[in-house]
Amino acid sequence: MVFFILYAIAVWIAVFLIRRRWIALITLALSLAPIGGFSHVCVLFLPFAQSEPAETWLYYVALAYAVVILCVGLVIALRPPRLPPGHCHRCRYDLSGIAGTVCPECGAAIDTSTGAGATAPLDSEHKVKPAAT
Ligand SMILES: [Zn+2]
Repeated sequence: MVFFILYAIAVWIAVFLIRRRWIALITLALSLAPIGGFSHVCVLFLPFAQSEPAETWLYYVALAYAVVILCVGLVIALRPPRLPPGHCHRCRYDLSGIAGTVCPECGAAIDTSTGAGATAPLDSEHKVKPAAT
C-alpha cells in the first residue's frame, strides 16, 4: 500500500520538476503504463479463491488509481514555472534595469519593497491608478 502512495508522489514530483513542457505530459502518460501492467500481472498470477468475485475488480481499482495520478498530475503539469526574481508577476516581463514603478509591458505596479523589479500581487488594492490630470 505504501508503495502505491510513494509511486504517486514520485510521479507528481517528477512532473512538477518538468512542468509546462511536453515531456511532463509524456512522463505522466508513461507513468500510467506500469499501473495497467501490474494489475494485469496480478490478475493473471495471483491465486483468487472461487468464492471471491471476478478478478476484474482489480482492474477497476487500478483504473481509479490511474485516474487519480492522471488528474493530480495534469494539475501539477500545467502549473506555470516559478517566476524568476525581477520579473513582472502579471506578464512575466523582465524588469531588470527598469527605474519606474510601473511595468512597461502591462502596466502593473512594481512593488519596490520586496526587491528589485518584483511587482505587487494582482488584487484590487495594488492596481495602477491612472494619474490625475
Ligand atoms: Zn507586466
